[in-house]
Amino acid sequence: MTRSPRVRVDIDLGQIRRNTRAILKVLHASQRPVSLIAVVKADAYGCGARPVARAIADLVQGFYVFDLKEATAAELGELGLRTLVVQAESNDSSDYTALRAQPIVWTEGQAATLRRAQPVLSVDTGQQRFGVPLGTAGVEAVLRAGDIREAYTHATRLEQAAALSLALRERVPVLHAAGTALLHEPSAWLDAVRPGLALYQSAVTVTAPLVEVTDSTGPAGYTGFSVRRHGVILAGYSQGLRRGPCVMNGRPSRILEVGMQSAFVECEIADRVGDAVTLLGPGASETDVAAAWECSPQEVLVRMTGLGERHWREPAAE
Ligand SMILES: *Cc1c(COP(=O)(O)O)cnc(C)c1O
Repeated sequence: MTRSPRVRVDIDLGQIRRNTRAILKVLHASQRPVSLIAVVKADAYGCGARPVARAIADLVQGFYVFDLKEATAAELGELGLRTLVVQAESNDSSDYTALRAQPIVWTEGQAATLRRAQPVLSVDTGQQRFGVPLGTAGVEAVLRAGDIREAYTHATRLEQAAALSLALRERVPVLHAAGTALLHEPSAWLDAVRPGLALYQSAVTVTAPLVEVTDSTGPAGYTGFSVRRHGVILAGYSQGLRRGPCVMNGRPSRILEVGMQSAFVECEIADRVGDAVTLLGPGASETDVAAAWECSPQEVLVRMTGLGERHWREPAAE
């Protein structure tokens, strides 16, 4: 998808730091060491993996990405922290060690081949992908082949974290399971947490100016919507926009209809050409938009950050 030149995406790195600190504070309350692995895959959900990683490198213990290409693009190897890589496509351990990366593995062959890169075992406790099913002989085989000291599962339910812990607590020194969905469940934290969404919530504001404002004369647009006054912004479904809530001059409003490269916004009498429509931000959060779009807040972030050119605000001195 192409970014619209008339949409502005503001990413507040200070808010991402505050989110990170808020997670650390909760973890510290547990009185036991739980480390924080920042999930910066998919360009940090569109927030920019390179700037995000640099903004929080002093607060976290590691990163998690999809593949080596992401780790390289974000220059994570320079930050002195380790990076877990879920799609271990290279069979050469030095490709990982050069970036301080560790491959995630779930087959005996992969584990043996990448043994020198300190692979991490992925156990399947219900997702039924990218993991070796718990309770099968495969688990022990992979652990042995890779000389593995760390294992995780991709859990969304407490029982999944508990199953991992029960099966491997005595066998593997470092275990983790929780992403954002289980951050409020201390018993799911085990030795580390891996949030993505929780790092980015409320950090992105997406705005677009009205380029036209019209007093409606009857059913308008393709769908024949009827409102008293409507405006137009230059972002459409070719950029990833959908119908949903927005904020117009401080009031809740809505995107009435989305076209290829423009969209209609419900307006009132005082709204003028040039006024900014907030598509994501205060009053139209990831969760608000996700409810309207019937998708996850993660998907909202990735789509919204792709609508326009991105601008990063550096954290204020602390
Ligand atoms: C993406 C991902 C996460 C982070 O998920 P959020 O719900 O955004 O916190 C954690 N663990 C794994 C294995 C993932 O793939």
